[in-house]
Amino acid sequence: MDMTMNPDTDGVPFVAIGEEELGGPLGKTVRCERCGKRHAVENSNGGKRWSYATSGWIDVQAGLLQFYKCGEGLFLVGINGREIKYEL
Ligand SMILES: [Zn+2]
Repeated sequence: MDMTMNPDTDGVPFVAIGEEELGGPLGKTVRCERCGKRHAVENSNGGKRWSYATSGWIDVQAGLLQFYKCGEGLFLVGINGREIKYEL
């Protein structure tokens, strides 16, 4: 995964994830790498969502991104319903 901030585009974050970085379909919950518990998977709703990774608001298409919440954090876990494989 490549996350790049471009100061020429008003701080809009770009996230590039390749096909080889996507796994199978996500279930309704995922096991959290941080606390070990399972958390509900939430779909982007088309509005602006807080991005923990970029510490800013991102505007996303409904259903395009999947997140889960752990404590105060919101974590990106999927794209178009497919799991992001963070370990390659
Ligand atoms: Zn957790």
